[in-house]
Formats: sequence, structure tokens, C-alpha cells
Amino acid sequence: MINIVIFGAPGAGKGTQAQLLAEKFDFLHISTGDLLRQEVAMGTPVGLRAKAIMDRGDLVGDDIVVALLGRALETRSTHPNPEAQLDQWDVERKGMPRRPEGCIIDGFPRTVQQAQTLEFLMRKLKRTIDCVVAIDVPRDELVRRIHERAAISNRSDDTADVIRHRIEEYDLKTKPVLDYYKVSGRLVTVDGSEEISRTNNRICQIINLVSHLKNER
Ligand code: AMP
Repeated sequence: MINIVIFGAPGAGKGTQAQLLAEKFDFLHISTGDLLRQEVAMGTPVGLRAKAIMDRGDLVGDDIVVALLGRALETRSTHPNPEAQLDQWDVERKGMPRRPEGCIIDGFPRTVQQAQTLEFLMRKLKRTIDCVVAIDVPRDELVRRIHERAAISNRSDDTADVIRHRIEEYDLKTKPVLDYYKVSGRLVTVDGSEEISRTNNRICQIINLVSHLKNER
């Protein structure tokens, strides 16, 4: 099983790429942004606390995000994913759905502290983050993409001021995470300014390589 983090600024295409990769490689996809939006949609106490923070474009506290991620990692990677389409043949053969072949995390870590916490969470599950794929997109293009998404999505954090603030938060708190993974030799950067399919092909090559090297060990 390999574990990958998809990293990038708001608008870099993390969610889109993570979804495509999860389908192609049969990976479990965990997006902390999606986990938070689910809590907001369900109107849970956590969701109510998170909504105001997300609407400002600030980072939600680690107490909330780490708890949601920890729960998703523990339950969804060891038990059937309730949202997943079950492969009927597998269900009939083994009496249970397939376990995912790997895990792809998007939206986490967003601070160096979170990167350290992720190491801890993975160690508890006897796993490691094998590779961090950073999607690099020039600033102007990021802003253009989020504005384009804002026109079709109903995300309350896709407004001009909030977009600006989310990018500031990324520069200040999230970018230093790149050094954390660079120093530990697990960072690969891909050009995300190209078409979605080209960037996706490039990431697929990287994942195949990581998987091959891991199997050789
Ligand atoms: P995303 O869908 O990844 O763009 O995340 C949307 C919003 O959810 C962010 O702007 C944050 O407010 C919050 N969020 C998502 N992931 C995290 C995280 N790892 N740490 C703190 N806040 C997060």
C-alpha cells in the first residue's frame, strides 16, 4: 500500500487530480476540505465552528482537522468505505469490498506542525507517507482558476477577498511544508499549469515509480 500527499496552493487542482488518481489506482481519497464541508452540511457542532473560519479563508484549528483526518484514516482504510461503489465480484468472492490499494491525502498537511502530526498518525497505522506531489501553478493562473470555479461552485470561500486571504495563508503557513518534505527526500514537483490530463499523466508516472521502488525494498 502506498500513501501519497497531493500538495498545492488553492486552485492548483489538488482535488481534481486526487480524484482522478483515486479512481485510476483504486486509492482511498481523503480531502480534509471535503471532510470539513461534510460537517458543515450536516450542521454538526464541529461544522458550525469550522464554517465561520472557512468562510474567512483562515485555517481551521488542528483539534478539529486532525480529529477528522485521524478518524477517516483509521476507519476508511481498514473497513469498507461506505461511500465507495462496491465491486460486486469482489463482494461475492470475499464477502466484503476490496480494501483500497493506497491512500491519497489532499488538503493536509497545511502547516509544518500538521506534517509532523501526519507522521505520527501514519506511524500509529504502521504506514509512511511515501511521496508528496506538489502541483506548481503560477500565481496569476491560480487566481484565474479560483474565480472561474467561483462562477460555477457555491463554495462560500470562493469570493475575491477570501481567495486573496487563502493564498496569503498558503504563502505564510503552508509553503514551509515543502521544505519539510524536501529535506526528507520525498518531494516531487510537477507543472500544474498544463492541461489536467498532462499533469495527471505525469503524476501517474511518479506514482508508478514510487510503487515500483517500494516493492523492490
Ligand atoms: P480546501 O477544500 O482544501 O481548499 O479547503 C477549504 C478550507 O477548509 C480551507 O480554506 C480551510 O479553511 C479548511 N481546511 C482544509 N484543510 C485544512 C487543514 N489541513 N488545516 C486547516 N484548515 C483546513
